[in-house]
Amino acid sequence: MKKLVLLFLMLNFTAYGQQSKSKKAIIVLTYDDALASQLDIAIPQLDAAHLKGTFFLMGNINQITIPRWRAVSKNGHELANHTLYHPCLMSSVKGNPANNSANYTVYTMLREIAEMNNLLYAVDGVMSHTYAYPCTEIAVGGVNYVDSLRKSGLVKYARIGGGPDAVITDFKNLDPLQVPSWGVAADSINGDGLIAFVKKAQQKGGLGIFMFHGVGGDYLTTPALAHQQLLNYLQQHRDEVEVMTFQQAMDSLMGAKNN
Ligand SMILES: [Zn+2]
Repeated sequence: MKKLVLLFLMLNFTAYGQQSKSKKAIIVLTYDDALASQLDIAIPQLDAAHLKGTFFLMGNINQITIPRWRAVSKNGHELANHTLYHPCLMSSVKGNPANNSANYTVYTMLREIAEMNNLLYAVDGVMSHTYAYPCTEIAVGGVNYVDSLRKSGLVKYARIGGGPDAVITDFKNLDPLQVPSWGVAADSINGDGLIAFVKKAQQKGGLGIFMFHGVGGDYLTTPALAHQQLLNYLQQHRDEVEVMTFQQAMDSLMGAKNN
């Protein structure tokens, strides 16, 4: 009997050893612009699936939404920095010259990121926050500010844009201040389309970062059903796919890189 138990234990250890060697994909679910549909639809879906997301907020959070975002943070999701006023060149600034990044300098941009960090600290009490470039633009007033942001020490990790092939596999050469993501921007996207991105990350043993905006509402909308189907898939493939916040994923990758 003792021999049988020993054999059983040895077999178990062997199976465990093989499993831990298999490549695991990492998926990060990020949501930009502090949209109501994220609070009302995306977050309840995430919570029901026991999955955590990263929410890039702006200075337009207010007396009504701040308590809700605070609860989101307490629940294990990540709140992150997307500047105060979302300065960029695109029409999404609605022609307000104050928010046009052509009129910004690197100094005014970094100051704004610092102030948003302070606002986030007041909301969640977390000491450091990750960042996403507004409209995925890495320049203001025609000047690339990636290295200034790096030197400022305001953020350790920053997310840029990319297409549906933006799965990261070359961790060695990954710039933590320019981490690519797939900007999901089509209303016609369905669950299979979202899951295909996860499968690419699985095949490559890579990191896949989704960039969502509206979920079942607002703009650049991912249908609520498609989002739910993605979460169902992630839940069903927990053994092969790890879902982390942006901060967690980067901490674990950069930790591995430095070792
Ligand atoms: Zn944005």
